[in-house]
Amino acid sequence: MIEITLLGTGSPMVDANRAGPSTLVRAGDALFLVDCGRGVLQRAAAVGVGAANLTAVLLTHLHSDHITDLNDVITTRWVTTFVRSPLPIIGPPGTRAVVDGLLTALAPDISYRIAHHADITEPPALEVYEYTEGPVWDQDGVTIRVAPTDHRPVEPTIAFRVEYDGASVVLAGDSVPCDTLDQLSSGADALVHTVIRKDLVTLVPQQRLKDILDYHSSVEQAGATAARAGVGTLVLTHYVPPLAPGQEDQWRALAAGEFGGRIELGDDLLTVQVG
Ligand SMILES: [Zn+2]
Ligand SMILES: [Zn+2]
Repeated sequence: MIEITLLGTGSPMVDANRAGPSTLVRAGDALFLVDCGRGVLQRAAAVGVGAANLTAVLLTHLHSDHITDLNDVITTRWVTTFVRSPLPIIGPPGTRAVVDGLLTALAPDISYRIAHHADITEPPALEVYEYTEGPVWDQDGVTIRVAPTDHRPVEPTIAFRVEYDGASVVLAGDSVPCDTLDQLSSGADALVHTVIRKDLVTLVPQQRLKDILDYHSSVEQAGATAARAGVGTLVLTHYVPPLAPGQEDQWRALAAGEFGGRIELGDDLLTVQVG
């Protein structure tokens, strides 16, 4: 069995009730944090998970809303826990430069804490890996592979397929429909896909918001991807505009027009088990 928890179902738009994009994947004893949006550790705390418990961080891409709290994950694991093992951070090319930049920004804090605590003698221990396709993880029965997605002009971007004990989950991140995502998702038990409501975003007057139409999947397109790939369950997240209370059925119906399987969506901390 693999358990998926939507830690944050929000987007770049600040929302009092939705943390930024982030999903927790539990596979056996392993815990993978997929993207690190705003407020991720507060949400993780609500399900009893702290930075010390993370097996690895997986980044689908380097858009700010997906990495805003990576610095918090790095610092909190380093300074508030006694975990000594390095934290693997797996993302697309560019991830190392972002992590190096974060460590540069954190340099004053790192120097203060090393100066103050006798048992902290080294900066945060991190292992950064960059991939665009292929196998990226094989440990304790959990395998992970990645494939490119299409979120241009943001590139490269990747999706992750996590497999454990016969169960499989794909984390698509932000993408328009593409062959490589279809292939990675083929036959998966669950596909976690970020979505926007194109029918609603089209109506807003601001061109800057309309700009997002061309590089995200609509709810219908996510449903069509799930159908082509033959997945068991479609999990929708990263709602733009924010999913308002009572509108769940309306959103679900748009996906159900394309996809006949199980569709899950809702608030932060929604948990889905597959396998
Ligand atoms: Zn994005
Ligand atoms: Zn996004």
